[in-house]
Amino acid sequence: MPTYFRPYYLIFIALVQLLHFFTNSYGQQIEAKVEIRREAPTTALVNGHFLDGVQKSGNRNLSFVRSYAGFTDLGKRIVNVVLKDANGNPVKFQTAVPGEYVADSEFTDWNYSVDLSPRKEQNAAAHLSWLSSDRGILMFGDLLPIFGTSGSKISAQIILRTSKDLQINSPNIYDEVVAVGKDQRSFSETRGDTKLRFEISGNWLFSDEDVKKFADEIYGYYKNVFVSDPVKDVSIRIMRFPGDVQPGAWQANTRGGNITLVSSDMPFKTQSLQRLHEQLRHEMFHLWIPNGVNLGGNYDWFYEGFALYSSLKLALAHNRIRFEDFLDTLSRAHAIDARQADRLSLITASGNRFSGSETYIYARGMVTAFLCDLVLLSHSRGKGSVFDVLREIYTRHKYPSPRVDGSTAVISIMRKHSELIPIVDKYIDGSGGIEWESELSLAGIEYTKNGLAVMAKLSGRQKDLLNSLGYNNWQRLSQTK
Ligand SMILES: [Zn+2]
Repeated sequence: MPTYFRPYYLIFIALVQLLHFFTNSYGQQIEAKVEIRREAPTTALVNGHFLDGVQKSGNRNLSFVRSYAGFTDLGKRIVNVVLKDANGNPVKFQTAVPGEYVADSEFTDWNYSVDLSPRKEQNAAAHLSWLSSDRGILMFGDLLPIFGTSGSKISAQIILRTSKDLQINSPNIYDEVVAVGKDQRSFSETRGDTKLRFEISGNWLFSDEDVKKFADEIYGYYKNVFVSDPVKDVSIRIMRFPGDVQPGAWQANTRGGNITLVSSDMPFKTQSLQRLHEQLRHEMFHLWIPNGVNLGGNYDWFYEGFALYSSLKLALAHNRIRFEDFLDTLSRAHAIDARQADRLSLITASGNRFSGSETYIYARGMVTAFLCDLVLLSHSRGKGSVFDVLREIYTRHKYPSPRVDGSTAVISIMRKHSELIPIVDKYIDGSGGIEWESELSLAGIEYTKNGLAVMAKLSGRQKDLLNSLGYNNWQRLSQTK
């Protein structure tokens, strides 16, 4: 039995003090204390106040995130709300929906409790704050009220008091994540201007050293693609689900520079390593896109589809997968797209991500990224690739660029490459089935009833393009083995 499920050990007491130095136009500053008491280990008590009087926006609202990543009713976790004025007198308030309060007059102090018992949807554990009797995750984006305008960044200094004090400086408190509980190992390494921090709890078939090695390799690969570092601090937290789950289950979330992997292990070590690499490949991409760019709206089709495809290319480049696996993944994605009865463009489907379109967006987005890569590689004779487009989007829209609509920004950069225009029209703006034979043939790949395969006879150009995709890399390796 893993040490995790030992029923009795010291219940932690966490005391978090937050000093927020708002950098938005209101210049609001708040201070809050978050406390978890021994007698109620799954409840967070929050006592906060505005350091400079009242809300500078003139709002009398106390608003919480009510849904996130498809999980709803978050406001129902908030109870015992008490608002007070500068003299410490209670201020009355109205509430229309749980998690949204409007005070009768200005208030300076706001106190409440949050029920953080793990939700019945186990998938929520990587996306929302939760506390079990012995450990948990605090995500300040769903724990604190939202002040200022949506998307505004708030720098903060956090003092976390458990057995020892911990101070965290964050440029955006709503992206901050803290893992609490016992049985955690922390270590870090510096990579250029960026610090990679690790917080791992529990026993796994992979070692702490494996995590560090993979993260370093993956970070280096994407740094080459995007050229600059997305943030100064990257934190990778790995922990188990709060309850029992099937082997192989996992969920991940990346907020700002904070990557949270909540997972169960795999039955065998090779699978465990393979999956850890896959989890990190996908999530670390998100450090740059979408987290490093100031783009808004539902453009998940892009940052999920292109994350999946980039992760595949990385896996191929580092010999984590075979070329056959690469083709097989793309065949399966194509099949998912072909099966979709209710055909939607990527733009439309992204608006419905959490109401049933998620798999479709991922699959269609990944195949679209592959087609972009094929035509860019072919057009430039291997000198350019989909990574040039990714780099261009990142460079143009990274912070502190002004906030613009994500889909519009991405499509306008794609359309500048004339060879991408048909792909944008047919698959991103349009809802047509993916007819990819001509693009595939550029690389000497054919679509058979068994999926994608490399053609028996290849021209010189097809061989070159296959090698640019990573075919040669794998062939060379399999010959030396
Ligand atoms: Zn993702």
